[in-house]
Amino acid sequence: MRKAMDALNQDINQDDLTYMQIALEEAQLAGNEGEVPIGACVVYEGRVIARAHNRRESDKSPCAHAEFLAMQKAAEILDRWRLSGCTVYVTLEPCLMCAGLMINSRVDRCVFGSYDPKGGALGTLYTLHSDERLNHEFEVVGGVLEQECSQVLKDFFARRRKERKQAKLNGTFEKPCAAEVTLLDAARTQINMIDSEIFALLGQRLDVSREVACYKAEHGLPVLDENREKMKLEWAESLAEGTRKELYKEMMEDLMNISKKYQRYLINNDL
Ligand SMILES: [Zn+2]
Repeated sequence: MRKAMDALNQDINQDDLTYMQIALEEAQLAGNEGEVPIGACVVYEGRVIARAHNRRESDKSPCAHAEFLAMQKAAEILDRWRLSGCTVYVTLEPCLMCAGLMINSRVDRCVFGSYDPKGGALGTLYTLHSDERLNHEFEVVGGVLEQECSQVLKDFFARRRKERKQAKLNGTFEKPCAAEVTLLDAARTQINMIDSEIFALLGQRLDVSREVACYKAEHGLPVLDENREKMKLEWAESLAEGTRKELYKEMMEDLMNISKKYQRYLINNDL
């Protein structure tokens, strides 16, 4: 398919190089904004009437692809939905959605930079521009400033991998914040306090039981059922255990919430 396309690439001219350079400038702008660097422009009657870059992250929109936005702008400028007479320049081979918009807007021509083996719809995975079943066909030229266009992408992904690796080494995404450390410390302190209170309480009860037993023995009084004394102690112990369990439960819930929050953070940041 690639070879077949290259055979069609006889129509690259100086203008194509000039306009692709503008699309590349847009790609750089996207990269500076932390977006995958893809840029586009639309040319009509020898003039650039719209230019745009990928804004998927900023706009939180799955259709904010560079050429999609550029085509929307061009339609606004021309004040019509038809983009006949227009050429779309884009640094990466358009996807199905953008190629679809090119058909729906009746563009004359699309010139792209690097080929996209994972999503290219104008020659690589699909040939939407020359599918006779659809109601519009248009000319496609691929591989214009291919080297430069793919280098921008490669540099961007290499830089991002490096930054993420460094961030992980620094532990940026693992350290709980100060407020959370305080919260956990407070929970632990509380548990320790309750533990010592429980031991004190048990000790007191044991002492009282022993005193009562001594007093009774000294005065020849009948000794209460030993089992009953034991049951009292067990009751005191279970009560204390219940309080402790409640506290542990609270602390575990705090821990779970913090853990969930970090999971969300990791997912949101693609880590
Ligand atoms: Zn697209």
